[in-house]
Amino acid sequence: MHTSKPNLDNPHARAAFQKMEPVLCPICGIKPVCFAIDHQGFQLCRCAGCRLEFAHPRPVFEELRSVVYNEEYFPPSLTEWKLDPSRQYQFSRQLRTLQRFSKKRGRLLDVGCGDGSFLAYAQREGWDVTGMDIRLTREARKLSCRMIEGRLGQIDLEPKSFDVIRFNHVLEHTPNPLAELVRSRQLVAENGLIFISVPNLAGLSARIKSFQSRFHLKAHRWRHYAAIHHLWYFTPVSLKALVEKAGLRTLLLETPVLQKSNRGAIGNIFYRFILEKQRCASILDIYGTPRT
Ligand SMILES: [Zn+2]
Repeated sequence: MHTSKPNLDNPHARAAFQKMEPVLCPICGIKPVCFAIDHQGFQLCRCAGCRLEFAHPRPVFEELRSVVYNEEYFPPSLTEWKLDPSRQYQFSRQLRTLQRFSKKRGRLLDVGCGDGSFLAYAQREGWDVTGMDIRLTREARKLSCRMIEGRLGQIDLEPKSFDVIRFNHVLEHTPNPLAELVRSRQLVAENGLIFISVPNLAGLSARIKSFQSRFHLKAHRWRHYAAIHHLWYFTPVSLKALVEKAGLRTLLLETPVLQKSNRGAIGNIFYRFILEKQRCASILDIYGTPRT
């Protein structure tokens, strides 16, 4: 058991892990092909069938939990009244869209709730919230709502007991994202919603960094993949394929540009009208519902 978080962003990071496991494509069930080795020594692979990219082989979950997701992983408390404008915009935009589809402020499960700042925000907006994480922080435990420690597949929950399940920058960290979505499909109501937000590896910024990495124009090649914090590297095409494989229908796919105070009004207009409209911003969001 590791007692402290090693610096993963270095050429020796691979050596911090003893036990590695092979990974098959969750959509096609086949072995992927390696296309790069990142600056830390991890193999980045792609499925020849559906083009989904992921780390293979990868450390077993128990090692990831102790090396990566230990007590030091979560940032210090962010209380709701201290939310920066970017997060506030992100939260309100997500809730507005969820409410547009769901027509109500219902029961919401936030998987991978972290410090709980979204839960506090959504609760204040009138949602009935439940938080879940593999390790609950002190801040999250202080919230006046139901909190669950563990993994979605291991917790006994009533089928159809939520109106919304949210995975905000969580799916790319999980060992089996298809299993997470299949389980979520059982846990949401018939017209319920599943919201997923992940980094967009087909975004303009990621494409430029991949080009630089491929042609050795970068000191830390493939660093933008953030292996091994991230096990899966999604694009709009591969995330949509995964969502559909889980028995969900895509209601909306977008690459939202989140407000940043230092960008200025003209910058914001550029980002909104160029990156967001062309679906090549850095974040990828999908709103899905169980297929009937
Ligand atoms: Zn595949």
